[in-house]
Amino acid sequence: MSTLPHDDLATTWRTARPRPAGVHLDSAACSRQSTAVLDAVARHARHEAEIGGSAAEAAAEGLLQQGRSVLAGLLGRAAADVAFTESASASLRTLVGRWRLAPGTRVGVLPGEYWHNLAALTDAGLVPVVLPADGPGRADLAGVERMLRTDPPALLHVTLVASHRGVVQPGRELAALCRAAGVPLVLDVAQALGHVDCDLGADVAYGTSRKWLAGPRGVGFLVLAPAVSARLTPVVGPERYDDGGAGTDHARWYESHDAHIAGRVGLVLAVGEHLAAGPDRVRQRLAALGRATRERLDGRGGWSVAEPVDEPTAITTLRAPAGVDVRATAARLRAEHGVLVTAAGRERAPAELTGPVLRVSPHLDATEQELDVLAAALAS
Ligand SMILES: *Cc1c(COP(=O)(O)O)cnc(C)c1O
Repeated sequence: MSTLPHDDLATTWRTARPRPAGVHLDSAACSRQSTAVLDAVARHARHEAEIGGSAAEAAAEGLLQQGRSVLAGLLGRAAADVAFTESASASLRTLVGRWRLAPGTRVGVLPGEYWHNLAALTDAGLVPVVLPADGPGRADLAGVERMLRTDPPALLHVTLVASHRGVVQPGRELAALCRAAGVPLVLDVAQALGHVDCDLGADVAYGTSRKWLAGPRGVGFLVLAPAVSARLTPVVGPERYDDGGAGTDHARWYESHDAHIAGRVGLVLAVGEHLAAGPDRVRQRLAALGRATRERLDGRGGWSVAEPVDEPTAITTLRAPAGVDVRATAARLRAEHGVLVTAAGRERAPAELTGPVLRVSPHLDATEQELDVLAAALAS
């Protein structure tokens, strides 16, 4: 008997996918796609071979637009605000590249900001300034409010759920503070969409298909409030078109001219499956899986959990006991126990991590028995 809520979600999730080879507890790295998603991607590629790439894309446009609409809905925006991209990182590079803020412009970030995001910001000439946070790295709202009042950065960039720690930032409260201060809020929802609520009132949100949404790799999204895209300059914009780009939604100027359309089709199907499962129920089961993981693993073999036990996410990170190598442990778990997890290096969040962590990220079909296998393996 499972003590987790919504066992039907586990059954549906499991039967919808190919059987995993071993125990897959690594959805924060890359989830397992469903058979329907895999087939839709293959079918679109076949359609391209049959009728031509552009014709196949035109035939898929209705589906893609539906997908934009659903993605937008999960983020509290409209279909016209959605651009498909190649990854979360590509989305951020496009955003800061096309915003063309003056070099030296200050961007508020939390201490645990993801290394690739910091690199993209600094590469664009922007200067990250650190927002106040508490011990586990959660934004200190009173401190942020004070900073916005006394010395506001030009924008805030916040990663709603980090890759190296399963803590949820207070996105809704941050969005309200930013709105009151007239400072745009950009949310990285790469680890958050399909996992926790992302309809929080941010001006920009971006993420990726392959993690909690369980879509194909190589696809991402960038969702822009019209007021933000009005401040961006596309490389190729409407003025280059004879018809002035008539009827083209504002976010579409930030999509690649050519792209892996089959992958976008797969993402749309995956988002549809998420919606069909019920995002609220998915969140409840994932949060319960996170708690079950932390309860089982904390202290096992000297490993210690970094998150509060009841943090409503399915990402658990473990600090190693003295003298134990995290990477070697992940390799041993895979080779000897068939358990797939991530060894996340300190470089992911150098201002927050004091060393590497072992990340455990079960999706809906993970069982308590599988978590017991991992607990026993860590203790051995
Ligand atoms: C994975 C991840 C990214 C990068 O996503 P890509 O699609 O690989 O570019 C960005 N931010 C966070 C928090 C992530 O976990």
